[in-house]
Amino acid sequence: MSGFRATVLTLYPEMFPGALGVSLAGRAMQAGSWSLDAVQIRDFATDRHRTVDDTPAGGGAGMVMRADVLARAIDHAAPAGDARPKLLMSPRGKPLTQARVRELADGPGAVILCGRFEGVDQRLIEARQLEEVSIGDYILSGGEPAALVLLDAVVRLLPGVMGNEESGVQESFENGLLEHPHYTRPAEFEGRTIPEILTSGNHARIAAWRHAESERLTAERRPDLLQPVTK
Ligand code: SAH
Repeated sequence: MSGFRATVLTLYPEMFPGALGVSLAGRAMQAGSWSLDAVQIRDFATDRHRTVDDTPAGGGAGMVMRADVLARAIDHAAPAGDARPKLLMSPRGKPLTQARVRELADGPGAVILCGRFEGVDQRLIEARQLEEVSIGDYILSGGEPAALVLLDAVVRLLPGVMGNEESGVQESFENGLLEHPHYTRPAEFEGRTIPEILTSGNHARIAAWRHAESERLTAERRPDLLQPVTK
């Protein structure tokens, strides 16, 4: 079977599959819906000390990952003709969206480079046409948790991975809105009851209530989502 193929380039391959080895993603991997290959970048260094980084040109704090070492790792992981997009996890990247996640899930897989230190040499990003992807406006110590987040979001959309296909369509963001609130038994919890309409059995009214709640929550918490999309 030709599942989604992820190759992650990292200095810490032991971080993978990590959280993606259990539950939904882990079972999907076992079933062959997707595969994950973690490649040690250090294996592509050529000196005795297996150096992958060096001091920044122009001076300053920290270290920068070398373009030559990373290029060898990428070319090994994705030889010419590999159709998978090449991503670089980066706080300077385009913020990850559910729409991009869906596109990735519809494709053959992804080659994902995880940065460390101050980041990677700019020439590598240009020469290998890496797509920079951010998971939010905060700084992680490395790209590995970001790669895990991206892959988690992708894998749950792969065909057959989620038991209830319907729930994937109703989720927050899928229709440009945040999801409505959920309730379950018991009928009363610490004096709080379930909105009456949800126990009415009137499916049309329930759907209308849920949609209204979605719009209310979105306007309140994420008014930016209601702006016309400019791509
Ligand atoms: N000096 C950089 C931060 C480097 S953090 C800057 O100020 O922009 C080290 C690595 O962690 C980055 O190369 C990237 O791979 C990863 N990383 C950090 N924050 C991230 C985020 N919000 N999204 C995706 N990757 C991130």
